[in-house]
Amino acid sequence: MDSKTLLLKAIQAEKRLGCNNGAVFGGFDRFVIQQLEKLAGKPGGGGRAETADFIRLFADYGQVSRSKREEKLEKLWHWLVNLPVSRPAPRRAQSQPQLETQLEAKEKTEAPPARTAEKSQGLPAQLQYVKNIGPKRATALQAMGINTLRDLLFHLPRDYQDRSQFKHPSQLVHGEKETVLGTVVNVQELRPRRGLVILKALLRVEESQVYAVWFNQRYLKEQLKAGTELVVAGKTDRAYGIPQINVEEFEIVDRQDLIHTGRIVPVYPGSGQLNSRFFRTVIYRLLDQVDEIAPEFLPGQYCQQHSLLPRPQALQEIHFPQSWTSRELARRRLAFDELFLLQLALALLKGTEKTAPKGIAHSPVPLPLEIEFRQRLPFQLTRAQERVLGEIYRDMAAPRPMTRLVQGDVGSGKTIVAALALLKTVASGYQGALMAPTEILAEQHYWNLQELFRPLGLPVGLLTSSKSKKERRQLLADLASGHLAIVIGTHALLQEDVVFARLGLAVVDEQHRFGVRQRALLREKGNHPDLLVMTATPIPRTLALTLYGDLDVSVIDELPPGRKPVKTHWLNRSRLDKLYAFIREQLEQGRQAYVVCPLVEESEKMDLEAATKLAQEWQEQIFPQFRVGLLHGRMKQEEKEGVMEEFRQNRLQILVSTTVIEVGVNVPNATIMVVIDAERFGLAQLHQLRGRVGRGEYQSYCFLISDTQSAEGRARLRIMEQTNDGFVLAEEDLKLRGPGEFFGTRQSGLPELKVADLVKDLPLLEGARQLAFRIVEEDPKLARPEHRLLKEELKATFADGLDLAQIG
Ligand code: ADP
Ligand code: MG
Repeated sequence: MDSKTLLLKAIQAEKRLGCNNGAVFGGFDRFVIQQLEKLAGKPGGGGRAETADFIRLFADYGQVSRSKREEKLEKLWHWLVNLPVSRPAPRRAQSQPQLETQLEAKEKTEAPPARTAEKSQGLPAQLQYVKNIGPKRATALQAMGINTLRDLLFHLPRDYQDRSQFKHPSQLVHGEKETVLGTVVNVQELRPRRGLVILKALLRVEESQVYAVWFNQRYLKEQLKAGTELVVAGKTDRAYGIPQINVEEFEIVDRQDLIHTGRIVPVYPGSGQLNSRFFRTVIYRLLDQVDEIAPEFLPGQYCQQHSLLPRPQALQEIHFPQSWTSRELARRRLAFDELFLLQLALALLKGTEKTAPKGIAHSPVPLPLEIEFRQRLPFQLTRAQERVLGEIYRDMAAPRPMTRLVQGDVGSGKTIVAALALLKTVASGYQGALMAPTEILAEQHYWNLQELFRPLGLPVGLLTSSKSKKERRQLLADLASGHLAIVIGTHALLQEDVVFARLGLAVVDEQHRFGVRQRALLREKGNHPDLLVMTATPIPRTLALTLYGDLDVSVIDELPPGRKPVKTHWLNRSRLDKLYAFIREQLEQGRQAYVVCPLVEESEKMDLEAATKLAQEWQEQIFPQFRVGLLHGRMKQEEKEGVMEEFRQNRLQILVSTTVIEVGVNVPNATIMVVIDAERFGLAQLHQLRGRVGRGEYQSYCFLISDTQSAEGRARLRIMEQTNDGFVLAEEDLKLRGPGEFFGTRQSGLPELKVADLVKDLPLLEGARQLAFRIVEEDPKLARPEHRLLKEELKATFADGLDLAQIG
């Protein structure tokens, strides 16, 4: 690791330790001085005089106060990160005759200008005018979503290969990928059989020898003249006397820098003519102009405060790292940028929503309809429900539009909170809407709310895509005329012809399955209506900050009284007999059981058959003395309702179902949940299913049946056994599956995070968030000159994402 990187790393560590001079054994100050001495006068190391100044600066580090130490660290950090980047030259390369890579040789004949000339002409406007690209490759790049120089610069390596260490032939390990620097002695062309041409170059490395072997690349022979110095990298074969390297990458040593070997080499996503070699070549050259294409947009003091590499340098290092540490520093900076820009966008959104004009001011006091409803409620709200409702009412009474997220574990009672909020808007003379991500969920809410509101005589409608044309037309007419008080629906609510007479409150359930865009679309159905979003999936803090940075958050952190934690067991199929016996015992005591069979979209029909067969088998062979019912998504609504009603009344003791009952069903007498092939469900889903039991006074059980061998699946089941806490599960889910899958970020309308890792980068995210919100507070429209580049960057990032029109 080079001295500069070591120093940067040590400074970070020293800061973390509160500048106690303890970051390095033997004294941080001594270490700094030692490294500075090494650095003095080296390429990329700054001038000797400057270095000497810093050595003096650190001479009394051990004696001064903490704030003085911090100052010194800042100065050194700033100086180090602004040192010009040196590109390490390979050993011995300098003295060799001037040779060129194939690509560069071609360039010379096509277009002779030197780099400096290109710079003075400014940046080419289009990719196809970039050297080595041309119209054909430009088209192929566009197909990959790379349209501009900037896109190209942000086409980041998917991996790296460490080819920084040249090996002596005696050190080569059979089967390993190794890198060797040697001189061509001779080249043989072999044709062992039709269609196979082998080029075998004998390389001299000091007093030793090694073969470099290429398959079917005869055209390379021209370049491999005796005396040529080559770096080759590839898998080693020691089976035949002289070791042999099956070349994957090679480079003819040039007086200039090595790109493809002799360093930590980037590997890019891409294929065909857009291979890693191509990307390396063009990006390497593009990096000469990194300051113009991707300039630093953060004012210097922020970089220092957050110990960030300057952006141009971060880009340089992420593509062509000098060391693994410098790559990590680069990744950190780019991750910070992603998180920071996102937070900045959210801060701006929140700012504009706050000052947005004329929302709806709902009644600040309970109206007669609300009072009547409360009197009919069969239970008392929990303290958490009351608190959250208070927060919602306060927002709803204020004239500015509410944007609030209600977060609460399964069974915490979000539905009733949403119902009370909807009632507030209806009682105040407005309409309410509730949007759910699936038809089943929408139907469940519809049943629940209809039951709640029927006694009040409030008309409630359901709009999904499976409604008939006629039903739909009638419903839309009732909605537009204002006759319908409340509508429940899926995405179908967002269609253009869905018009409200006066939408007062929109509720979005399972918020994380919708995007910011859809949330905004629903809101546009009214004149700045209030918005309440609910999530049954507990959101890990990292993601809450990322995705909901613009929302106010209320948490229902208490379950209704009397709930006993569900006992969870993971069983192999071989133990089903034991399970049957246990279930029989419970049923004999008067309890009931759910059995859930997975339903995967692509094999829905087969899954359905399996569920039907299972229900039949349980009824006829295993539990003949009880009644087994079947519920699945293909049934008509009345049929479903019929089966559910029978189960509710304990005329069915066992309910076999596809995931229809994932949400909403509430039968306190049911104490057993059996999940078949449990590995096919996500943690959040399993947690939801388990939430169907443990709702009454009896001890409840959840049995996860699975023979899976997949490590990930087994990890998931084990976690289910260990905890009932939805937040813990969500965090684990995030670790197991990564945020992309957990959240479907792709469809959320937010830019994809390419670099940031929401699990690892929580501290970075918090720093980024604080900075973003502080900047927006001080400069709400980013109008200050020092924020000009920041604003441009923000616009470039969210070009087709969030609506930032309001900040100009
Ligand atoms: P979720 O938060 O998972 O959507 P629900 O809203 O479905 O939870 O509520 C779970 C069950 O708890 C429902 O049957 C509901 O009637 C009941 N419930 C909600 N609040 C209370 C309460 N304060 N006391 C008793 N039962 C409640
Ligand atoms: Mg719910």
